[in-house]
Amino acid sequence: MTRISDNLSTINERIHTTALRCGRSPDEITLLAVSKKKPVGTIREAWDAGQRRFGENYVQEAIEKITALHDLPIEWHYIGSIQSNKTRLIAENFDWVHGVDSLRQAHRLSSQRPADLNPLNICLQINISNEESKGGIDIQETESIATEISRLPNVQLRGLMALPAPTNNLQQQAGIFSQMQQLFEQLNSKGLNLDTLSMGMSNDMEEAIRHGATIVRVGTAIFGQRD
Ligand SMILES: *Cc1c(COP(=O)(O)O)cnc(C)c1O
Repeated sequence: MTRISDNLSTINERIHTTALRCGRSPDEITLLAVSKKKPVGTIREAWDAGQRRFGENYVQEAIEKITALHDLPIEWHYIGSIQSNKTRLIAENFDWVHGVDSLRQAHRLSSQRPADLNPLNICLQINISNEESKGGIDIQETESIATEISRLPNVQLRGLMALPAPTNNLQQQAGIFSQMQQLFEQLNSKGLNLDTLSMGMSNDMEEAIRHGATIVRVGTAIFGQRD
């Protein structure tokens, strides 16, 4: 086995074990392999090991990879920050976008999504970290923005994303994940029909799964350190 396939097996095993320990079905949790700054050959290697969904942060880099890997039916997720002059490229090339943080962005993505493609799946990034803001929608505004976005024709609002500032304090991270879970449940109780909670990375995925994550975004633990 190659190192990447070993790492993928280890991560999938961690997801499986954590899910069962907290009474969830492992099938509820999807592993998104974050391949930013990693070459095409590495992504192919992960594909050969059974990985099907990949996340990228930089539009230009991602499009080069998407083009080079066109022979594989990969599900591509854009997880980087969204600049308004890049929304068209994002809408044209990706299946999912995780970091939508305004109604305006969602409008642009919806109007720029090509008509022959399925609606673009989107998650709203929530400003939940108590450290310096990395962007995101304020909790108080989420319901009204989500309601508006859910009416747009060419995007499908799937759920929420958290990108808390990195910390080794897992208890603090757990507090953030727990707030996300509450917000997610609250929005669903208002009829929003969300099925995705995108949170948890290499260092805190277990904590995220314990608080309801349905997509964990893992880079380093699969591919090693980035340059
Ligand atoms: C890079 C990145 C990840 C993966 O982080 P690792 O610590 O390498 O697992 C997840 N989500 C986002 C938004 C990222 O930018």
